[in-house]
Amino acid sequence: MNMSNPRIPRPFFCGNWKLWGTLSDSVALATGVRDAVAGVTAADVAVSPGFVALATVAEQLKGGSLGVAAQDGYWESKGAFTGEVAMAQIADGGARYAIVGHSERRQYFGETDASVARKAKAALAAGLTPIICIGETLAERDAGQALAVVARQLDGTTRTLTDDELARSVIAYEPVWAIGTGRVATPAQAQEVHASIRDQLTRRLPARAQQIRILYGGSVKPDNIADLMKQKDIDGALVGGASLTVDSFAKIVQQGVAACTPS
Ligand code: PEP
Repeated sequence: MNMSNPRIPRPFFCGNWKLWGTLSDSVALATGVRDAVAGVTAADVAVSPGFVALATVAEQLKGGSLGVAAQDGYWESKGAFTGEVAMAQIADGGARYAIVGHSERRQYFGETDASVARKAKAALAAGLTPIICIGETLAERDAGQALAVVARQLDGTTRTLTDDELARSVIAYEPVWAIGTGRVATPAQAQEVHASIRDQLTRRLPARAQQIRILYGGSVKPDNIADLMKQKDIDGALVGGASLTVDSFAKIVQQGVAACTPS
């Protein structure tokens, strides 16, 4: 988060609930988060319930600032695609964002950069903001390939977006080895990759790349968010496990905002 640059993006914190909770659990967590972060005006905040709960949660949050994100979405808008949920249906259900290309989708459900690109494009066409996830595995990092892998994924997932579409997107850098493992990237490790993402965005969109939000994700907790948010190119967080209680997610948002607010 660049404190000296007036063009800094507004911080963004999104909870990724993954496969979690009943309908009533989801409403309780979402309304709890809404109440706990009600005083936060200097950041955008969203939660991502499962599909069954998405529209009900969005209805409960209607008119407020806490947004709803889908965890995935399909690129076709209708047809013989049993089991899929269209981006337009997600928007109709009240969501503002769609996470696309999460590493769990890539690992367990065969997502590729090409399918993620189609999903991102469809999300934008439906009026949603895609949160496009990229990140290297531990083997790739250990082989010294982290920056190259992330660069290739960024290109592969955004190449087909127009400049305007890219400018409206959010990028989430999530090193696979840090997701759900308790092993967070150090602020310096994360910043190195975020800076290289920013450089790549700048080569494509020189006038607008500073505005594109680049989130970090991977074992973010209340006790590590401040150091991450002090990094120049970290504009927020995609939070898995620690977004499942009101207290820890609200602390992440509050401490994350405090860390990048000049005192
Ligand atoms: C995630 O699922 O996007 C994530 C970052 O999970 P966790 O915070 O649990 O590592």
